[in-house]
Amino acid sequence: MTPEITEQEIIVVPGNHQRTFADLNLPDELLQAVTEMGFEHPSPIQAEAIPPIFQGRDVIGQAQTGTGKTAAFGIPAVNLVDVTERHPQVLVLCPTRELAVQVAEEVRKLSKFKRGIRIEAIYGGDSIERQIKSLKAGVHIVIGTPGRVMDHMERRTLKLDNVRMMILDEADEMLDMGFREDIESILEDMPEDRQTILFSATMSKPIMTITQRFQKDPVLVKVVRNELTAQNIEQVFFEVKPKAKVEVMCRLIDMHNLNLLLVFCNQKKRVDEIVEDLQIRGYQAEGLHGDLRQAQRNNVMSKFRSGVTNILVATDVAARGIDVDNVDAVINFDIPLDEEYYVHRIGRTGRAGKSGKAFSLVGKDEKYRLREIQNYTKVRIEKGVIPSFEDIVGLRKARFIEQVKQTIETSADLNLYDDLLTALHHSGFTTEQIVSALVKRGMGIEKNEFSDQNLGHEDDRRERRDGSSRFGDRREGSGRFGDRDRGGRESSGRFGDRGGRDGGSRFGERGTRGESRFGDRDRTSRFGSRDDSRGEGRRFERDDNRAPREQEANMTRLFVSVGRRDFIRPGDIVGAIAGEANIPGNSIGHIDIFDKHTYVDVPRELANRVVDVMEGNTIKGKRVQIEVAR
Ligand code: ADP
Ligand code: MG
Repeated sequence: MTPEITEQEIIVVPGNHQRTFADLNLPDELLQAVTEMGFEHPSPIQAEAIPPIFQGRDVIGQAQTGTGKTAAFGIPAVNLVDVTERHPQVLVLCPTRELAVQVAEEVRKLSKFKRGIRIEAIYGGDSIERQIKSLKAGVHIVIGTPGRVMDHMERRTLKLDNVRMMILDEADEMLDMGFREDIESILEDMPEDRQTILFSATMSKPIMTITQRFQKDPVLVKVVRNELTAQNIEQVFFEVKPKAKVEVMCRLIDMHNLNLLLVFCNQKKRVDEIVEDLQIRGYQAEGLHGDLRQAQRNNVMSKFRSGVTNILVATDVAARGIDVDNVDAVINFDIPLDEEYYVHRIGRTGRAGKSGKAFSLVGKDEKYRLREIQNYTKVRIEKGVIPSFEDIVGLRKARFIEQVKQTIETSADLNLYDDLLTALHHSGFTTEQIVSALVKRGMGIEKNEFSDQNLGHEDDRRERRDGSSRFGDRREGSGRFGDRDRGGRESSGRFGDRGGRDGGSRFGERGTRGESRFGDRDRTSRFGSRDDSRGEGRRFERDDNRAPREQEANMTRLFVSVGRRDFIRPGDIVGAIAGEANIPGNSIGHIDIFDKHTYVDVPRELANRVVDVMEGNTIKGKRVQIEVAR
């Protein structure tokens, strides 16, 4: 059966809209709210969907993510509520808890000047008792996930007899997630005489089936998004060997100085792998996938929003409803299986008139999918050249020079560590030697297994000037993220040092992946150029006689074989231990840094874990030995 819409179909091409909210006949209380929310004009989907909804028509609204669909139904929903009646009048169904919460927030803002209106989000994972209490007290607009709504209906704590407007938000997603039966039984339980509104980013047969069964003469409002052709998004693809994708991504991040970015991949298990690879390389990355508990999701999202995390790695489903402005770039780590997904993904950047970048890493077997996407979007995606090792080194050098200059020019206490310099002079080193050593450390560029020739597809090798040059992980985060750590932490120490880890126990334990990526041979080449004595197999003398601090009860003191002369700071120790052993940083107690070693107190029950994880790992590029202090 071919789905068909009987009534009118409005297709909107954005760009020629000069309508105002006042033109839409919004009552004052809503006009005031949208003004306060900073909305100057209705978005196209709002301008076209609100009038028929106001007229009482059933509406299907189709527009991409980020086009303002929430307010398109939120405004009429708030408008419809009669606050003198204390029962649910509007029901909104959303696919996920996070979306339900987001929609509730937006609708609350819209209703700010409508006195006495009550809005409640009900979703699984939240206390049902609390929700029951709230529903009993009288809620006008209920925003919920299908499962929890059903639950309340069965308990009779949610009665839909007086619902006059029913909204299915992200309908495509709800159906994809298997909520079809729930949705149908909710709709069957509702008064016949109601308005049914459905919003979706995509249209599909299952949606049309729902439409035909539950909507009356719906108006289809479809926004053909101009941004889909995305003039403000620079779309580039790179032909990359699957194994080199992380490497190429990191080069692109460096090259374009990307600050906030979304990385998409097709499978959830890849999310964790990519996050780990990025973290190892010193990037502040976090993952988002369906297996996370809500609290974890919220945590990840708030870190990304506040910029503590620079890179969010997600699957398409997990990224639903993510709404973050200022995303510099979207990286398609994999080419999405569905063309619509590509459009969704890249639509997360280049928002609000800003420019954005969309980089796609295309494996050989993904080329045809990229072609399909180009056919679909009718946009040419340019082929990009992978930055060479030399490009990156050049760039890093320039940035390093800039940073040193800045430090010299802006530091009031530049001479703070003159004693160190004197000490080094006394050891017989020249100023040049000392500076060279510091620059080497500061640049933190190392070799790894990726030569420039080893990144792209075989048929795409270009001449490189220096075939042997290799590009390495950033060990020293000093440059990149150190200066933009909005969280105020010592990110340079914390993450910068992690690069060296993969030579340690971590990858050793891993299965095929660890072997293929950092096999023993590679490991040697990776670390072959390192000059610092790692003290392998050598005991460190306990050099200082200074008595360490009293130890607290329930804490175990650990001896760590790095100290001041390795430029270790407390933040480095906390970062390494907390990050590696996955324990909260604030559970780590006293840290006493001596010349060649450090004492750190950790909770007794975690001591063994910390020792196990840290032994043989590196802190600030130094391989460490760690043991319970005697
Ligand atoms: P969608 O549901 O279509 O993905 P949202 O409703 O989540 O999009 O809206 C995306 C963002 O745009 C939100 O931050 C929202 O507050 C904002 N927004 C919505 N309508 C407008 C408008 N008319 N003007 C400016 N910003 C808007
Ligand atoms: Mg939405």
